[in-house]
This record gives sequence, structure tokens and C-alpha cells, in this order.
Amino acid sequence: MSTPCSPKSGCRIGATEVRIGALALQGDFREHLAVVERLGHEGIEVRTPDELAVADALIIPGGESTAIGRLAVIYELVEPLRRRIVNGMPVLGTCAGMIFLAAGTTGAAQPQLGVLDVIVERNAFGRQVDSFEADLRVVGLDRPLRAVFIRAPWIEKVGGDVEVLAAVDDPSGGGSHPVVVRQDRILATSFHPELTSDDRLHRMLIESVEER
Ligand code: GLN
Repeated sequence: MSTPCSPKSGCRIGATEVRIGALALQGDFREHLAVVERLGHEGIEVRTPDELAVADALIIPGGESTAIGRLAVIYELVEPLRRRIVNGMPVLGTCAGMIFLAAGTTGAAQPQLGVLDVIVERNAFGRQVDSFEADLRVVGLDRPLRAVFIRAPWIEKVGGDVEVLAAVDDPSGGGSHPVVVRQDRILATSFHPELTSDDRLHRMLIESVEER
């Protein structure tokens, strides 16, 4: 954990400032870091194992999961990421970030961390033009969360240790599919919580650092 005081946000009473990294290889990591800073914590861009080592928690943003995966291989981040996550570092993976955390996809193989015991279906709701917003009921949140889905995946299969916090119906009638899941300190969403002013999922991530 970093120091409780910083020149930027001063000293917070009753809470410790934590340093939240955002994997900054591709995708909308800047939007996530803006949320972190709005909540009074330090946000850092993570592109190297050394930057990862000083983060108390990590956000893996939305974007393009194949690009994030390939760049993580090139930057030699795959093993350091796995190690920190398996050792309990809290993580929030959103959209492509969720895909990168997962054990597999229903499609062709791509670099994945395999730390979250789910199989995802990429682009499950259709193409870019089928992007949509919905008010979701999420376990643990008192009121619905506005969720922005952009070429979003859903979860096709969950492992035994994975808790489903929210699900949505397949628009073509194929039943309901998880879109928010938690496994230990890994929280993953199919949508983009950084694109609304509702920061409750980012707060959940920060709380799991403070609980450690
Ligand atoms: N469709 C992208 C993928 O499969 C994810 C889209 C997103 O992160 N908004 O990687």
C-alpha cells in the first residue's frame, strides 16, 4: 500500500490512499484512471513488470482483447500478471479485460491469463452497431447500475468458485448469461463502468485493497 498522504490529494481521514494501476497496453485505460483519481486515489499506467510491482490493485480495461494479449506477451507481462493475481492482488477486468483474465473463449485461441475460471463468448451481443445500455441488478449493490455494452462478451460457462453478480438475457432468446462475476479478488464485467459517472464497481475494487 502507498502512503496515506500525497501532495495531490492530501491526507484522507479514515481511509488509506491506494495506488491503482491500469494496464496501459491498449484500450481505454485513461478513463479508468480518471475514475480512480476522482475517488481520491493514485492511478498509474502499467506497461512494465516494475510498474506492476508497485500497484496495489490493477484494472484491465476494455479495448481489443487480442491486441492486449499480444502486447502483454511482447512486454513480458503475462507471467508477472498471473503471479500477482494468483497471489491475491485485487483486479477489475472490463470487457476486453474480462476476456484477457478468462480461462478461454468459445472461439480461436488467443493469449489469456487463465486466472478467472470462465469461458467467454466474444462479441456475443453482435457487432458494434448492436452496442447498448441497460440498467443491471448487481448482487451487493442497492440500486441498478447503468451498464454500457460495446461489442461486449458474455460468459458462456462459469467454474465452481465463480460467483455470478449480474446476468442479462440473450436478445435472441437463448437464456440468460452472466455479465458481472467475482472469483476471490477478481471482479470482471462485460461492460464499461468507466464510461458512466457510477463508480460503485471501482469502489468495490478499492475496498478489496483496503480489506487486505
Ligand atoms: N470485442 C472486444 C474483444 O473481443 C471487446 C470490446 C470491448 O472491450 N469493448 O476483445
